[in-house]
Amino acid sequence: MNTLSPKAGTGPGAATLSHSEACRLIREGEERLLERAAQIRDEHFGKVLTYSPKVFLPVTNLCRDRCSYCTFRKGPKDSGAHTMGLEEIGRCVASGAEMGCHEALLCLGDRPEAVFPSYRKLLGEFGFNTTADYLVRVSELCLEKGLLPHTNAGLLTGPEMAALRKTNVSLGLMLENVSPRLCEVGGPHQSAPTKQPAKRLAMMEEAGKLRIPFTTGLLVGIGETVEERVDTLLAIQKLHQKYGHIQEVIIQIFRAKDGTRMEDFPEVSDEELFRTIAVARLMLGTMNVQAPPNLTPEGHRGLIHAGINDWGGISPLTQDFINPEAPWPHLDDLANLCATEGFRLQPRLPVYPEYLDFQTWIDPDLESHLNRHQGELSHAQPL
Ligand code: SF4
Repeated sequence: MNTLSPKAGTGPGAATLSHSEACRLIREGEERLLERAAQIRDEHFGKVLTYSPKVFLPVTNLCRDRCSYCTFRKGPKDSGAHTMGLEEIGRCVASGAEMGCHEALLCLGDRPEAVFPSYRKLLGEFGFNTTADYLVRVSELCLEKGLLPHTNAGLLTGPEMAALRKTNVSLGLMLENVSPRLCEVGGPHQSAPTKQPAKRLAMMEEAGKLRIPFTTGLLVGIGETVEERVDTLLAIQKLHQKYGHIQEVIIQIFRAKDGTRMEDFPEVSDEELFRTIAVARLMLGTMNVQAPPNLTPEGHRGLIHAGINDWGGISPLTQDFINPEAPWPHLDDLANLCATEGFRLQPRLPVYPEYLDFQTWIDPDLESHLNRHQGELSHAQPL
């Protein structure tokens, strides 16, 4: 198995781009900005773009936060509030495995038991005290039914992450932005205490100490300044330079959703997103840079030209529950588009090859599961 050092993942560009230059390039761009970014991508990754075939499991949509842009979150009395039981999860995972998926994305609201007694009661009926305890069992079930879990459950403690590391090949938490200003009254995170950047950075640091391959990212267009965007990329880069654990950086565009406090908030243009991705590539060098294709349906070419090397998770079975209005592209269409740009679309596992090291990054008990999925990937028909 490939055991490239993840620490190699910062690379060219990182040392030469100043903060002010990065901001200028996002604001104004310049001739050949995208080409420079694409060249760094091509030299390191070749003409391959990856995605993770996944099943999206919204284990619970109850959440203690209230981000101003979110339609996923529910309170216990809201219509559509739902917590998945083991039977429902098992059925969904088995279907996904049959359809050729590799990843079970466990994506859910942040620690609902902290604020909702009815959810605490339900967890008790399931036989668990905390969501994290339940997720350990859910993750075991995913492995039993043939998928590799990747959990994004919001803020987790060190012991919770250590427990999940035994069954999860990677964990995730969007940093979104490092600016505490966004948590002030009127900001997108005014009612979302878990979005305080210091708490998110502390969890990411803890994940680094625990040697957990970790997914994070930047949310573009929630009212941050361009300077704050660059600060966020620098914070991610700094943590990766210290621990080598940031397996991918998602550059995700904000989309205004009806019925939210930010429904009329102006979105940044696709061109500004492309410039932000290109600058991220220049800053992060050879780290994995990802953008979800369903949030920029008319901009797939632009995302490729801006230097991404990965599309993130795409599901043949489940919708994107965070963005249900945004369907994933059909894989054949995406593969054809990649081909017209000179790239091969290739499935990957929810942990990147450079982390397939069972001494350092992944619990040895997961080796047989990963070997089986690696074998299936190597026999997959090219798209
Ligand atoms: S974005 Fe996440 S943390 Fe914020 S309200 Fe929605 S589910 Fe909760």
